[in-house]
This record gives sequence, structure tokens and C-alpha cells, in this order.
Amino acid sequence: MRRATVEWQVCGLCNYDCSYCVQSPKNRVGHPSESEVSRFLDFFERLPGAWEVKMTGGEPFAFGGFLERIVPGLVARTPHTVSVLTNLSAPRAQLERFAALTRGRLGIVSASLHLEHVELDAFVAKARALRAAIDPAASMVINAVLVPGRLDRVEAARAAVEAAGLRFFPQVMKLGGGVVDYDDADRPAVDRLIGISPSPRRANVAPGYRGRLCWTGVDYFVLTQRGDAWRCRTARRFDEGFLGNVLDGTFALGDAPEPCTYDICPCTVPANRGMIEGVGEATA
Ligand code: SF4
Ligand code: SF4
Repeated sequence: MRRATVEWQVCGLCNYDCSYCVQSPKNRVGHPSESEVSRFLDFFERLPGAWEVKMTGGEPFAFGGFLERIVPGLVARTPHTVSVLTNLSAPRAQLERFAALTRGRLGIVSASLHLEHVELDAFVAKARALRAAIDPAASMVINAVLVPGRLDRVEAARAAVEAAGLRFFPQVMKLGGGVVDYDDADRPAVDRLIGISPSPRRANVAPGYRGRLCWTGVDYFVLTQRGDAWRCRTARRFDEGFLGNVLDGTFALGDAPEPCTYDICPCTVPANRGMIEGVGEATA
């Protein structure tokens, strides 16, 4: 079953600078103005139906307007479910406020573990505290990128995350529109971490779905901090599938699925929300 979802890059700015970040430093800047935040909230209030609004960055909590205006505004003014992708660097008090604000309205917290910036035990303790504070019915997952040559640390992270009762989600590293070609030394650990042919719910291996019918652009879209809407991340990369701008009133969704024309589908969200013909479990 499809679950209508928008992935909204609420800001570009981020307080980390990961060596493997898919966003270039020159793009990891900026956030909407006060008046743009108001217009985004107006847009989400008008958006028909009940959507999952999955907010990403940059780092959403690095933008003060995220917790002060966007989250409370979505909860108060719309019927939508709130989800977030965060590096979990926000102070505990902010995370607790997020948990309180989203009670009864939270979909998923995707917390990314960046071992270049955090100490594993401290991150796991913080993640565990957040898990205890959020809606019991909401999902929480800990993502980690499989950085070549550093997979022993990722395996240790998985053990610590799972020992804390949290779900671990490995992601193959993306590079130049494709994925890293792991060498023979890394391959056994990659296989241990992601398994053979994992589903999009268990790991992100950036597969290709060319030719399959895809409902992105109908029941799913990506939205930038400037209000531009695109069918999916890959379409945006190729400057295709533009749906207009939600701030200037030109936004319009399609009304029928279209076959995928791309070799790589780098994000598991469309698959896990049931957008792609014959793919995904539509569960998280
Ligand atoms: S935390 Fe995320 S957005 Fe920020 S630099 Fe790292 S990978 Fe990029
Ligand atoms: S299958 Fe993936 S890459 Fe293809 S159109 Fe759908 S979301 Fe985009």
C-alpha cells in the first residue's frame, strides 16, 4: 500500500562536514526566511490528504526555525505525520522537546551515526534516551554509511546499536551518482553488514528499478529549502521531473504513475512507502 510522503529539505546548513556527504559543502548552507517558513506551513495546510512529512537537511535541528516554528506548525495546522532525518547532534533538551511536540504524530526518527564526528557510546546513549522519549508507536532507526576501509568500526557500531535494542540500517556509500566499488578486503564485512540481496527495509544498496511503474510525483515528492519540488532525488539530479515551486503557487502533482527511466534509485524512502511497482514492504 502506498503511503503519501514528501521529503522536505528544511535547510541546507549542517553542523558536521562528513567526508562522504553526498551534498557538497557549497550546497550545505542556507535556510528559509521567516516569511518562507510561514508560506511552507500554508502550503502544508492546503496539501490535500494526510502525508508523511519527512524532514531532512543539512541538519534540521541546526536551523532554529525547525523546532521553534516548523514542527509546532505542522502539528497544529495540518493532519500530516512528522518524521525526521537527523545526525542527533542536537542537545538532549531539544530532542526531548521534539519528542513532546510530536507525541501522537511521529512517523520515524532516522538517526545517522557519523563516526567521524561522534563517540559511539555517547551516540548510542543519546539515541536510547530519545527512543524512550518518543511515541512508542513511532519507528526509530540508526543509519550508518559503510565507509571503505573503516568497516570494522561500522560492525562495532551495529553491535552496540543492536545491544541497546535499536534498529541498525546500513547504507552503502554513494559516489558520483553511483555507489562505491568495495575492494576484496572490504567485501566480507559488506556482506556481513548488509547480507545478500537485502530488501530496501533492511539496507540501502541503491538498486535500479528502470522500467517499473513508479508513483513518485503522484504520492511522493522531494522538496528543497527554496520550495522547488521534484518527482524524486534521481530525477532532480538529472534536472527532470520538476513539479513546480510550492512557494510561488506553481506546484502540481502528477495524476498517474510513470515507468522509472533511471539506473539507480539511491534512496529507500520511495520503495519503503510502496511507490515502486513490486518493490518494498511499505513498513518504515
Ligand atoms: S551530517 Fe549529513 S548532511 Fe551533515 S555533513 Fe554529515 S552526511 Fe552531510
Ligand atoms: S524507481 Fe527510484 S529512481 Fe526511479 S523514478 Fe522511482 S524513485 Fe525515482
